[in-house]
Amino acid sequence: MMTAPSAPPAAGLGSGNTGNAPPDSRNNPTGGMNLVDQTAATSTAPAGSGQGGAGAGAGAGAGGASNGARDAAGSGSGLPTQGVPTNHGQAPSRLPPTPAGPHQPADDESDSDSEASDDVTGSDDEDSSWISWFCSLKGNEFFAEVDEEYIQDDFNLVGLSSQVPYFDYALDLILDVESPNDDVLTEEQHEMVESAAEMLYGLIHARYILTSRGLNAMLEKFKSIDFGRCPRVYCSGQPCLPVGLSDVPRTSTVKVFCPRCEDVYFPRSKYQGNIDGAYFGTTFPHLFLMTNQYLRQPKPTQSYTPRVFGFKIHASAKLQAQ
Ligand SMILES: [Zn+2]
Repeated sequence: MMTAPSAPPAAGLGSGNTGNAPPDSRNNPTGGMNLVDQTAATSTAPAGSGQGGAGAGAGAGAGGASNGARDAAGSGSGLPTQGVPTNHGQAPSRLPPTPAGPHQPADDESDSDSEASDDVTGSDDEDSSWISWFCSLKGNEFFAEVDEEYIQDDFNLVGLSSQVPYFDYALDLILDVESPNDDVLTEEQHEMVESAAEMLYGLIHARYILTSRGLNAMLEKFKSIDFGRCPRVYCSGQPCLPVGLSDVPRTSTVKVFCPRCEDVYFPRSKYQGNIDGAYFGTTFPHLFLMTNQYLRQPKPTQSYTPRVFGFKIHASAKLQAQ
């Protein structure tokens, strides 16, 4: 059906970060450029096509950032700057992150989900819808499957056409509508449409999970601990919920919210950690807990006390340390 890549935006967004706590790279002043660059550098096709569309606007410096990110991701693969085409000025300046190419190695054993198959694009492409395919991609575990009916209702999409490039094409792709215009598009434009579809799906998703059907879909995922557990020891493995720190796309990556300690953390998987927080939004976990009151948790009673040779550290010593 499509040659869409198999992994979510892996290498790109965590630029320069070596830990498993990806920074909000989108916060950096060149955020837009970065995203565009990553689109070029982490997708496999533009390297060969040489038409420069997907990566238009990316500079050499941005290429470096991407390489750094790739190194951080541990792959160290040798396709550095060739994926950064020159600027032919034909690409929209706002591009969502493109999923990393199928050649992106599953390199990080520390990822909680890395044992899952990395090659999920394959065999069942013909049978499954774009939505289930997208949600099955590595790193996209946080996404619920949005009802097609919800997407088909124009009312639910109000305002999105101005935010997402190639809106109509992206919508057709999400809904598996065969468009006669598909043949007109170059391979590169196809890739941009695929990126746009990802962004469009994310923005629709942020709205959908606030509806009762969406909340129910997320409840099922919460019950299966699809969003991971709170890393804080005294939260005793409390399952978390995804949250965005902003509702504006490209502001920050998705975080997980712990209902017990009421704090936010980076997702454990760097693949998940590269997803835009706006695809979940700032409201979701809190509305979810208001809707499902019985899932509310008492604040943890235990907390950690630092000790030296068994003695608590005096406040004055802590002050000095600062
Ligand atoms: Zn917690």
